[in-house]
Amino acid sequence: MGKIIVANWKMNGSLDFIRTFLPSLKASLATTSNQVIICPPYPFLISLGMDLKDTPTQLGAQNCHSSPHGAFTGEVSAPMLADIGCEAVIVGHSERRTQFEENDALVNAKVSAVHAAGMTAIVCVGESMGVRESGQAIGTVTKQLHASLPSSTNPQNTIIAYEPIWSIGTGMTPILEEIIEMHQALHGATQTPLSLLYGGSVTDQNAKDILSLPHVDGVLVGGASLKIESFQKIVGS
Ligand code: PEP
Repeated sequence: MGKIIVANWKMNGSLDFIRTFLPSLKASLATTSNQVIICPPYPFLISLGMDLKDTPTQLGAQNCHSSPHGAFTGEVSAPMLADIGCEAVIVGHSERRTQFEENDALVNAKVSAVHAAGMTAIVCVGESMGVRESGQAIGTVTKQLHASLPSSTNPQNTIIAYEPIWSIGTGMTPILEEIIEMHQALHGATQTPLSLLYGGSVTDQNAKDILSLPHVDGVLVGGASLKIESFQKIVGS
């Protein structure tokens, strides 16, 4: 079965970048059974959606508001994202949890909003280095997972991304046994198992090994998703 490969461009990219990126993405899609989800910044969603409409690639956003509409200047709602063809939304990325003070309750409300709009929520959870060093990683992440998931959660509308905070953008990854241990715990943590991605310094060098681990259904890729050749190799892993 194919794996799920999510590209999180964060606040990067441009129309020029997309013009260079598309031919190599389309070439790699032709030879893979993996499901690719591209999450660019909001301004590029519509045009990228049109560019990819004849491919199996899904379009994803990186965030949304928890309300469907209203007086929230500068925000974007889940129904708006569904309206323009998004099929997935990343919710609770650690950068949003730390820089924008999103707690589990808010993440839970956003995941509900994504479900209500008929899209898939890619829900991020992960521990800090301090928590890992204190031996509390599994307990902390499992608790975060339960608090972040609303009752509308099911395997069709939710994907979990385990992303150790200390691994994001640092070049450091857990050892494979630590990924296995966490994914085993998360697999057993919900009534019906959900698809589980690993995220944090995934590159074309380590993607194959990570993707071959038990209960790793895919990867969430930040920095390497902006490196055209690297991402092409990851998609083909
Ligand atoms: C991310 O942004 O979710 C991420 C995993 O980033 P990176 O791959 O750069 O560590």
